[in-house]
Amino acid sequence: MLTFIFSIFVSFSLWNRGQHLPNKLHGATVLSVRTYADKSPIDADVTVVGSGPGGYVAAIKAAQLGFKTVCVEKNATLGGTCLNVGCIPSKALLNNSYLYHLAHGNDFESRGIEIQGISLNLEKMMAQKSGAVKALTGGIAHLFKQNKVTHVNGFGLITGKNQVTAKTEDGEQVINTKNILIATGSEVTPFPGIEIDEDTIVSSTGALSLKKVPEELIVIGAGVIGVELGSVWQRLGAKVTAVEFLGHVGGMGIDMEISKNFQRILQKQGLKFKLSTKVMGATRRPDGKIDVAVEAAAGGKNETLTCDVLLVCIGRRPFTSNLGLEAVGIELDNRGRIPVSGRFQTKVPNIYAIGDVVAGPMLAHKAEDEGIICVEGMAGGAVHIDYNCVPSVIYTHPEVAWVGKTEEQLKEEGVPYKIGKFPFAANSRAKTNADTDGLVKILSHKDTDRMLGAHILGSGAGEMINEAALAMEYGASCEDVARVCHAHPTVSEAFREANLAASFGKAINF
Ligand SMILES: Cc1cc2nc3c(=O)[nH]c(=O)nc-3n(C[C@H](O)[C@H](O)[C@H](O)COP(=O)(O)OP(=O)(O)OC[C@H]3O[C@@H](n4cnc5c(N)ncnc54)[C@H](O)[C@@H]3O)c2cc1C
Repeated sequence: MLTFIFSIFVSFSLWNRGQHLPNKLHGATVLSVRTYADKSPIDADVTVVGSGPGGYVAAIKAAQLGFKTVCVEKNATLGGTCLNVGCIPSKALLNNSYLYHLAHGNDFESRGIEIQGISLNLEKMMAQKSGAVKALTGGIAHLFKQNKVTHVNGFGLITGKNQVTAKTEDGEQVINTKNILIATGSEVTPFPGIEIDEDTIVSSTGALSLKKVPEELIVIGAGVIGVELGSVWQRLGAKVTAVEFLGHVGGMGIDMEISKNFQRILQKQGLKFKLSTKVMGATRRPDGKIDVAVEAAAGGKNETLTCDVLLVCIGRRPFTSNLGLEAVGIELDNRGRIPVSGRFQTKVPNIYAIGDVVAGPMLAHKAEDEGIICVEGMAGGAVHIDYNCVPSVIYTHPEVAWVGKTEEQLKEEGVPYKIGKFPFAANSRAKTNADTDGLVKILSHKDTDRMLGAHILGSGAGEMINEAALAMEYGASCEDVARVCHAHPTVSEAFREANLAASFGKAINF
């Protein structure tokens, strides 16, 4: 009996060790795992470096197309920024902090739901977030196995036009490969002179794991990530001020009318904004607080703000450090991105790049789409992506979502346009949900009625925008959308009504 228990223990330890061993190859049993140093080279058709939404999706698609595929990832878990420290953990906290806010404020009470003694268990909220991340990153490992993608855990270095060497402290794994796909993503852009410790001066990564709710949080940057994470901590009880160099919230690409409405709603929720203001520096005081020196962007007016946590959120930059690009003659553009052709080929035709490391919006779904069409291209397929149809979403409450052109862009380009608007206050479902903030704004071509842009501020905007993306991909007119039967009562009826207004000059219910 003792021998039996001992053998179970040994098997479990080996299995457990196998889970953490780098370079656990698909199909290899735990007992056959060797260190990198004594590994023989792997031959591959496609080697993907990076397992973010661009890399892991490309690897699975490549394997499905029949390519012998390897994916090299330097981190212990798969999924890249998006799953580990980006989209997924931020959305878990946004959702849960919103529920807390509903229960804690007077929203539930106004609906006749009376709960006594609401309190926040931040540790548990963080654990739920970590659970979602773990399940999803683990899911990729499962998908790799199912699709026969070989996962190599190591730092990928391009050691030749047809070779990637994965490096770890244990040694190295050489992969001889017909094609290389770089999907190494991005990293936080540092703020010159402000050192991030991920404790009290944090990047988005640290802001996703604070141990307690700050009393005062200052966010540098009121772009997408800044307002999302600012909202999380404001809902949980922090006083939040976002300092933004630009004159508006929501970052680049947002329609100005929507941005103004959005700012007003966020301010009503308690967020404070200092727009057209630049941060000059930050100093840690002996009492642990942080003084943040700010100045009007146009110059002149100085002020010092104080907080206990400072979130630096000024954007992300492509990550290509120590990748070995120089060795194969690939040079970066002036923003550190890898230049690629319409088929995502670098100047070395069998080396491709996609996702945050190339030009275009730094979004997970853009990286995914590029990954899929890039490997389809390797297989001889057509490669096409319309960046005008890539939607953007800010997952606050209400959400903001848009696709296509803004009104400002159409004016600048001299395109004749019509506008159709519909407020959620006039939508029956929004009304029954007592969730009526915001509107749908549709921009269409004045002569052809073709949809040129959709801008939604409202609950569920992030889901609704996919209907607009579909319409725009297929070159739909606003009348096309307005004539599609929409289920009632749904908030999407507001989208239909705004198209009706754009096409016929008048909505029905407003
Ligand atoms: C807080 C936050 C919230 C976000 N929310 C959203 C959102 O809601 N929706 C959205 O669309 N986007 C969101 N983003 C952006 C999104 O995460 C990125 O656009 C997306 O992850 C880019 O995917 P990628 O595959 O290009 O790169 P990444 O996800 O950055 O993945 C790159 C991977 O490559 C690995 N790697 C790098 N170099 C090497 C090497 N030499 N060898 C081996 N591995 C290497 C990295 O470890 C990483 O795992 C968010 C980002 C942040 C920070």
